[in-house]
Amino acid sequence: MASNDTMMQFFEWYLPSDSTLWRKVTKEASKFSNLGINYMWLPPAYKGAGGINDVGYGVYDLYDLGEFDQKGTIPTKYGTKDEYLEAIKELKNNNIKVLADIVLNHKLGGDETEEVIAVQDDATNRNVSISEAKMIKAWTKFTFPGRGNTYSDFKWDWTHFHGVDWDETSGCVSIYKFYGKKWDKDVDDENGNYDYLMGADIDLNNIDVIKELKAWGLWYYNFTNVDGFRLDAVKHIRADFFPEWLGEIRNKADKNLFAVGEYWSLNIDKIKSFIEKTEEKMCLFDVPLHYNFYNASRSNGEFDMSRILEGSLVNELPEKAVTFVDNHDTEPGQALESWILDWFKPLAYSLILLRSEGIPCVFYGDYYGIPEKEVTPKNIILDKLLKTRKYFAYGEQEDYFYDQNKIGFVRRGDYEHPDSGLAVVMTDKFGGIVRMYIGKKFANTIFYDCLGYVEEKVYIDDEGFGDFSCLDGSVSVWIKDGKYVN
Ligand code: CA
Repeated sequence: MASNDTMMQFFEWYLPSDSTLWRKVTKEASKFSNLGINYMWLPPAYKGAGGINDVGYGVYDLYDLGEFDQKGTIPTKYGTKDEYLEAIKELKNNNIKVLADIVLNHKLGGDETEEVIAVQDDATNRNVSISEAKMIKAWTKFTFPGRGNTYSDFKWDWTHFHGVDWDETSGCVSIYKFYGKKWDKDVDDENGNYDYLMGADIDLNNIDVIKELKAWGLWYYNFTNVDGFRLDAVKHIRADFFPEWLGEIRNKADKNLFAVGEYWSLNIDKIKSFIEKTEEKMCLFDVPLHYNFYNASRSNGEFDMSRILEGSLVNELPEKAVTFVDNHDTEPGQALESWILDWFKPLAYSLILLRSEGIPCVFYGDYYGIPEKEVTPKNIILDKLLKTRKYFAYGEQEDYFYDQNKIGFVRRGDYEHPDSGLAVVMTDKFGGIVRMYIGKKFANTIFYDCLGYVEEKVYIDDEGFGDFSCLDGSVSVWIKDGKYVN
């Protein structure tokens, strides 16, 4: 990938169920292209069990992209199939590659129940059964009456799943593993074995299932013309499935389609081990970095800022890291709630957008705000940081991470981008100066804070050094010429 690839996640959890998102992204495509966004991650586009209200992760029918009258609606929460295809076309016309959100761990909203023999496993240690085998009624029959056989005549039944968490007969929630089935071994070891996440857990050892999901992936690629994938819940799926699935689609498409997986763990060793097991076929989101930001934003100035990148994927395997600040799951009220406080957002975004490593991902909920949770839009500062990335974030990088409170880094610019180069200073506590070497080519020039927090200018001395500063609990981004940014 080119060094300044920049991603955006174009949805948040609490969007209204008004089917307008595909139209909105179509309208905004040229704006984000100008801001340097060249990868757009769109939410799951297929019909979920929750119909018009489904965020997309409660997958019912992978072939219904808002085209069939199923689950009480033709369009999804985000719009119709035609609007989705139009959005992809418009994004691509604006040189933005489109990532489809791929959910292959589970399905929800089966059309009929089936009687299945199952054992209950201990929710906190799924290696241990806590009941005898017994008959339950599971919602595992997916016949898609609203779609029929259009695009595919594959119908799902219990043999295609590992288990469920609901018995219709008893009305009890539990982890029900179907008799004779085993949870996949090569998954995350949280709860003993984290194969099961939700709904009807897809059995990715079943030959018919594998064949069907490969056929579907290829159908999806050809039907939508997307450029890559964001792979959901990969820690709940055997590690060797995705290299196989991606390999098939990349081969048949004859394209090295981009892929980034969601492996939700703070443990960098687990993340690195997954990258190894998946033969480096995909990038992963930098979850440990997100938690560093989270902790820094909530430590009342006591976080050791010199360690802000410690244990992160972007530090250890930068070429595999998609960095982010927050996402739809970390929002207030969500399953993985770990929302980064407002004051720290400019610091976190400066760290992902202005450094040379990783592919940064800008979150819709930060850009447009989250009205439902009274989160205000950060579009003004994000526009500035994106433009700074686009025009100034080039060349050699040097870190000045020597202080627990105040850190800085410089990019020294390159010759392809006139006047490029920048200096960043930030602190979680008291503001002040970090003296940094920006380069002799800037000697005797004036730098100013393009974020506008510090009003005084910085004079670069004969040797190419400047006394760059920031205010308390703040960040300043110093550049030479602001005509591109403001
Ligand atoms: Ca699973």
